[in-house]
This record gives sequence, C-alpha cells and structure tokens, in this order.
Amino acid sequence: VSSGHMGVGELVAFLLYVNYLAAPMSGLFDIAPALQTGLASLERTQEVLDLPTETDRERHKPSQTDGSGLLLQGVRFRYSDREILKGASFHVPRNSYTAIAGPSGAGKSTVFSLLGRFHDPTAGAITLDGCDAHTEHTLGEWRARIGLVEQNSPLMYGTLRDNITYAAPDADESWLRQVVEMAGLAALVKRLPDGLDTAVGEHGSSLSGGEQQRVAIARSLLARPEILLLDEPTSHLDSAHEQLLIETLHRISAECTLVVIAHRLSTIQSADQVVVLNAGQVMASGSYDDVRDYLPTQHATA
Ligand code: ATP
Repeated sequence: VSSGHMGVGELVAFLLYVNYLAAPMSGLFDIAPALQTGLASLERTQEVLDLPTETDRERHKPSQTDGSGLLLQGVRFRYSDREILKGASFHVPRNSYTAIAGPSGAGKSTVFSLLGRFHDPTAGAITLDGCDAHTEHTLGEWRARIGLVEQNSPLMYGTLRDNITYAAPDADESWLRQVVEMAGLAALVKRLPDGLDTAVGEHGSSLSGGEQQRVAIARSLLARPEILLLDEPTSHLDSAHEQLLIETLHRISAECTLVVIAHRLSTIQSADQVVVLNAGQVMASGSYDDVRDYLPTQHATA
C-alpha cells in the first residue's frame, strides 16, 4: 500500500492485508468474495475515504540485521493447561529449504502458528537475522517478512492474474513474470488461451490441484517474503507432479528461505535440512541421513 490516499484497488489490498493481520491462518481468504461484490459500492464511497496508509503509521525499525537466518531458541507454547512446545530450538539458514517432520500431534503446525505470529510463545525467542519477532517488529512488519501457503489455499473467481496479484496489486509485470516462472506456472500460462488473463472458474475449478497449489505459492512469492512457510505442498499430487513441485521448491529456496511442513518422504528427502519434532521437542536436525533414525517409521525406511 503506497503513501497518500487510497484508490479502490489499494483499498481492497489494504482490507485483505488487515484481514491477514487479524485472521487465523485458515480465515485468510474468507472475505475475498465479499470484497469482490462490494467493489461497486466502494467506488461510490472512495471520495470520502481518508484512510491512513501503512507508511503513515509508526514503524519499529529492526535495530540490526546480521543475515543469520531464522532461529528458534527454547520456544515453549501451551494451549490452556497443556504444553505443546517444550523448549524447541532450531536454526534455518538463509536461502535454504528446511523440512519440519514428525508424527501427528508433534507440534509442526503450532510452530507455523508461532512463526506467523498467530500465537505468541510462552517462553523462548524467535529471531530473524538477529531481530526478535516480537520485540523488534510490529505485527505488520513481521508478517511482511513471512509468506504462508496452506495445504488448501482457496482460489477466487477471476483470472489467473487476479488470483496471483490480489494481495500485491502494484507488483510490476517483470517481477510477476519471474514469480510465474519460479512457481512453475510458465508452461500453464503459455498454454492458456489468454495467458495470465484467462479466467480460472469458481474457486479455480478449471485448474488442477497442483496448479492451484502453484498459484497459491506464486501469490505468496509476489509479496517478496524473506521466509516462505509451506504446509505439505505435495499432499494432493501424484508422483510426477510431486517431483515437479520439489524442483519448484529448490528454485524458490535460491531466492527466499523455505520452511515446509513435510509429511511425504520425498519432501523430507529433498530438503537441505530436516528438523524432526516429537512431542513438542526437536529430536534431531540435519540431513535426511542424519535424522532418519528419528523419523516416523514410514519415513525412515527408504
Ligand atoms: P499433524 O501432522 O497431525 O497436523 P502437528 O504436528 O501439526 O500434527 P499440531 O497441529 O501442532 O501438530 O498440534 C500439536 C498438539 O496441539 C496436538 O495434540 C493438538 O491436539 C494440539 N492443539 C492444536 N491446536 C489446538 C488448539 N487450538 N487448542 C488446543 N490444543 C490444540
């Protein structure tokens, strides 16, 4: 959102951004259809709007950046009286691909929830490049550094372009093209009759599950996150498409730091680093070979 007063497009982006700040992860896109239908009335009220923009608000500048990447140190978290994370510590180097593995209930999604600042740790610290997620960032600043792609990120009615750009409508065309390439969508765009301007149907119904997943990844990448969090991106893919997506993940990790909740063996094996969680603690971290004895049995047998 740029400085000055907002146009309708910027307002929609702003409302989506506010929704992103306020919503739990699964509610991120809930208001998108309502926003679309409300566009006409927004146009009528645009002249009387006088909303402050992001740059008008007070910002806490991170005091230092040392390029050290993402660090969790002794992170604890509890839901009411039950402790879910019990002092988890691990390091994600910059521009690496880290898989978080472990049995159901180990705390993988909870780690994502804390990384997205949807919840706060009860103890310990999360830092990015040496700057504390909580004390040295506003929520907006932190979220601007983090992208999140859920397992089923719903698409909206509209074109491919709308779906990729709606949270970053000002992104320039050359960055958009790069992101399309990075997310592995270039062949699809070439094949579609109107390229990026092809309608994708209700909730992206004219696209395959893998293509929808790539659109969700492209949408997140467009905002230039420093850390991209992906919740098992290959879960609905056959093995050919799974392999393509893994190539995509490697391409992305050259540009930004990737943290993936991994259920599939291939997602775990292809990572630079695997962090194994069990009962809220890090049991092991390192290469697949380093950690295979600590993985749930179905992942340790390859
Ligand atoms: P899975 O692989 O099955 O998704 P996970 O490793 O991601 O599991 P989490 O979803 O982080 O595990 O859950 C860790 C523990 O926290 C589980 O025992 C879960 O029941 C509990 N939990 C998760 N969300 C809540 C909540 N909102 N309130 C209370 N307990 C919760």
